[in-house]
Amino acid sequence: MELTTVGSWSPYPRTGEACSGYILEEGAARILLDCGHGVFSHLGRYMDPLQLDAVFISHFHPDHCADLQALRHFMRGAFIKGQRTRPLKVFLPDDNQGDLAYWQQIKELDIIIVQDKWSYHLSDIKLSFHLMSHSILTYGIKAETEQSSFFYTADTSLDESLVEASQGVDLLLAETTFRSFEQDLAAATGHMTTADAAYWAQKADAGKLLAGHFWPGFDQQELRADLAALYEGQFEMAAAGLKLQI
Ligand SMILES: [Zn+2]
Ligand SMILES: [Zn+2]
Repeated sequence: MELTTVGSWSPYPRTGEACSGYILEEGAARILLDCGHGVFSHLGRYMDPLQLDAVFISHFHPDHCADLQALRHFMRGAFIKGQRTRPLKVFLPDDNQGDLAYWQQIKELDIIIVQDKWSYHLSDIKLSFHLMSHSILTYGIKAETEQSSFFYTADTSLDESLVEASQGVDLLLAETTFRSFEQDLAAATGHMTTADAAYWAQKADAGKLLAGHFWPGFDQQELRADLAALYEGQFEMAAAGLKLQI
């Protein structure tokens, strides 16, 4: 598999960049993981949006779902022009905050409601969905092929019981919203610190940690130094255009 970061800022993007959005590819299959502010306008830098097979929305906070509106209008246009005939699969949490009835009546979209520990085969990728611990209903996603495995925590607090689902993955994409000394803030908002992300990756014995979901006001070098001091394994900081082979 290959993972491309489209954007990783939260809760708003830096100028000219995007909030959470990652393209996961395996062979001809392409799934977009989250579609926050700015993601659609940057997606075309990395792939033709017409080629998307599916979109996974982890939860209905705007930094993860705002540009689903842009994507759905793009698909409407593509259907009208005959550029595309198959609906775009959209995996959504069963959360009324997301106005599911609205999304389900759009004929260009094939809405698939996910549940905890439920799985779905998209081409050669086995996707499974895992309930996280955030301020609203949120799912993390695991993607597995015969060769490799990947886990995306989306937004969550650190909870020992959640680590199990990502045990032994080759790549762990973990939210790293706060600095290590901001534990109280992280706990109050349902997020993780650099220390939490490092602990999770260590505990899961992940092959590599990809840290993401960064506050635009933080100095990235300080965050990187924080992680380097806390985590002995390999890690990278998510940044627009970063491609990782899994
Ligand atoms: Zn959130
Ligand atoms: Zn978020």
